[in-house]
Amino acid sequence: LVSREHHPARSVVRVGGVPIGPDTLSVIAGPCAVESAEQTLAAARMAQAAGAALLRGGAYKPRTSPYAYQGLGETGLRILADVRAETGLPVVTEVIDPGSVELVASYADMLQVGTRNMQNFALLQAVGSAGKPVLLKRGFGATIDEWLMAAEYIAQRGNLDIVLCERGIRTFETRTRNTLDISAVPVAQRLSHLPVIVDPSHSGGRRELVLPLMRAALAVGADGVMIDVHPAPETARCDGDQALLEADMREIASTATILSPLM
Ligand code: PEP
Repeated sequence: LVSREHHPARSVVRVGGVPIGPDTLSVIAGPCAVESAEQTLAAARMAQAAGAALLRGGAYKPRTSPYAYQGLGETGLRILADVRAETGLPVVTEVIDPGSVELVASYADMLQVGTRNMQNFALLQAVGSAGKPVLLKRGFGATIDEWLMAAEYIAQRGNLDIVLCERGIRTFETRTRNTLDISAVPVAQRLSHLPVIVDPSHSGGRRELVLPLMRAALAVGADGVMIDVHPAPETARCDGDQALLEADMREIASTATILSPLM
């Protein structure tokens, strides 16, 4: 269902009216984790000023350590909905288990399945039935074919509004958090009609890598990028090292403006 054999033309997925797909360059930005109403609104304003059309932010955080910040849960979802009302930005947020899909879908415009859950087949089926577009991140240990098969689980439930997100894979390299597999973008676009975006924040894991990796993503034809921003990264409860500041966001905006007419 997600292959180009089945559907030769590349698809456009609409999220709260915002198109993601060929001929557009979608910027999704916001905090890694929702920490408070003030922090989320400030990050959303930074995102919007830089041209982001969609707000990201995790209310449920699938952390490697059980002692790390796990997110605000439903309170975080309410904050995201309030910030959407304030800014007009549709909300992309992660869902981490099948049992909370209905709840998350009642607040979100797009459901994110994170790297750790890419092969959680029960979750894929549940988001496939939830009636909302899905952002499917590539598993950090998954091949492109496994990623596309994960998308197939969602599509099989009747939901073809799926955006693929390359966010880096695990290799022997330790100087970056993950290795951005830039070749995955044109390969996945050739095999599948689904839009493919890149998350340069989670792949590099460091602020100074976000802009160069974003440029690389756009140069290979990514349909968008997803970026972490935070009004005070030094106080962030999650992934502060990769969060962009106000000034960095201005560079993101000009890069997006310069590169999008070339796409
Ligand atoms: C995220 O985008 O908040 C996230 C946790 O990303 P990933 O699943 O790619 O690690």
